[in-house]
Amino acid sequence: MSASDERIPHFIREIIREDNRTGKWEGRVVTRFPPEPNGYLHIGHAKSICLNFGMALEFGGVCHLRFDDTNPTREEDEYVRSIIEDVRWLGFDWGDHLYYASDYFGLMFDHAVALIRKGFAYVDDQTSEQIREARGTLTKPGRESPYRNRSIDENLDLFERMKAGEFPDGSKVLRAKIDMAASNINLRDPVMYRILHAAHHRTGDAWCVYPMYDWAHGLEDSIERVTHSICTLEFEDHRPLYDWFLDKLEIYHPQQIEFARLNLAFTVMSKRKLLQLVREGRVSGWDDPRMPTLSGMRRRGYTPESIRNFAEMIGVAKRDSLVDMSMLEYCVREHLNKSAPRAMAVLDPLRVVITNYPEGRSEELDCINNPEDPAEGTRRVPFGRELYIEQEDFREDPPPKFHRLSPGREVRLRYAYFITCRDVVKDADGRVVELRCTYDPETHGGDSPDGRKVKGTLHWVSAAHAADAEVRLYDRLFTVPDPASETDWLAHLNPRSLEVVTAKIEPCLKDVSPGYRCQFERKGYFCADPDSRPDRPVFNRTVTLRDTWAKIEGKMNR
Ligand code: ATP
Ligand code: MG
Repeated sequence: MSASDERIPHFIREIIREDNRTGKWEGRVVTRFPPEPNGYLHIGHAKSICLNFGMALEFGGVCHLRFDDTNPTREEDEYVRSIIEDVRWLGFDWGDHLYYASDYFGLMFDHAVALIRKGFAYVDDQTSEQIREARGTLTKPGRESPYRNRSIDENLDLFERMKAGEFPDGSKVLRAKIDMAASNINLRDPVMYRILHAAHHRTGDAWCVYPMYDWAHGLEDSIERVTHSICTLEFEDHRPLYDWFLDKLEIYHPQQIEFARLNLAFTVMSKRKLLQLVREGRVSGWDDPRMPTLSGMRRRGYTPESIRNFAEMIGVAKRDSLVDMSMLEYCVREHLNKSAPRAMAVLDPLRVVITNYPEGRSEELDCINNPEDPAEGTRRVPFGRELYIEQEDFREDPPPKFHRLSPGREVRLRYAYFITCRDVVKDADGRVVELRCTYDPETHGGDSPDGRKVKGTLHWVSAAHAADAEVRLYDRLFTVPDPASETDWLAHLNPRSLEVVTAKIEPCLKDVSPGYRCQFERKGYFCADPDSRPDRPVFNRTVTLRDTWAKIEGKMNR
């Protein structure tokens, strides 16, 4: 069963179904994906994208793409562009519903003025340290600010002058007037606006007061008439504040619903940490194929289908968990097995000379492009007297269960012939550098004419026709399942997360375009990298054919 065939029930789907049944939103379903453009999207965001766009699609609604760009200091257009590209790549469409929170700055300001007029907000002159210190703790109530009881007129005047740029950064804030003794600390007069004389990526120098997340977010949802405002669990304690603002303003009021964020083992997901990896050159960029970013996964060869299937498979829950990388890799493998054509490449070449094959001759053999998909047909692959096979497919002293090539033993070269190893050539250090083999011309195509059985089937390439390719083999970026929980998380970077080898590839792989995905027979799925040049293709290993990690991770999690 593939994840896409089966819709796994979850509580958000149930809520929407129930709302449609009772007519709570008049049958409308409006969700949104609201990234802050301060980094590239990662696989955690993909979960949120699939959920928000998925619910809208399923219930005939719409999902907005909204840039939550309320913080001028960390945001950049490069991130906006990458986010647009990544959401499209994942296969989702927001139609005309592309929004920027910064477009609402004027409306937000007016709503703040309305709140001041109602006596629910005030300008505070305390420093941020004083405010923090007076906030109290879980066991101790907060203290009211000496500025809390300013008159409405004074608050209106000061707030206008904050906006006009009369005061320096940090000298004043606008706060909601709620309850300094509230058991939920988020309700202890939270800050709504701060003064920041900073240029914004879209509004330039038009503003020097910027709204805080909790104040801005509910307004954004309300302005866009969102129905279900789906967010991650850490905002559960903020929901009373989300509701308070909208109730006091008496404006359209969406429903906030929280779900558990995706945590993936052996990587980090915080944008701050990912940015640090990029800035410090620990990876080659946001799209380094080892990164958990969508651009990294795309470059590595992951397909949008496999990521969507993964999101469906992990489900939507109320409890945080650490998901195994092997689940994501399973989805990638499952999709590529169906869709990726096969080809032959030798990653660690060992020369083989077929001594009874005429010198100077070559021939072309029919190879099946994808055994899972007959429509993909066959291709012709050159064969000659000199070939390469993998070093690991030969053992001079084979252990009991080794069924590949060894002295005197016969194996099949896939789609070609049976060969028998007759002689081993070594260099001065005793290293095997060449095998002298004979072939049986009667086994053309790799079929036995007399029912003779061989236990091993090897992939190969013709030495005269092969090209060199750079192949990048990736491993986990970190050596521990949950690096973010370690004090020195960078100390746990995997020093062997990238290995580069020069492979021998069959001719059909020479000129593929970046993004081309295929299976190297017996070695895994690979994807041509943008670094490829006509004389030197570069391939990334997307995923191995079998899961070598499930067992190891199982042990580590115990
Ligand atoms: P960071 O904390 O690293 O800055 P963020 O969660 O604040 O990341 P946003 O740009 O605000 O990043 O995220 C946009 C949306 O994606 C939010 O609705 C958020 O809830 C969701 N999201 C972010 N990370 C995850 C995750 N790991 N799993 C599920 N959803 C996520
Ligand atoms: Mg955020």
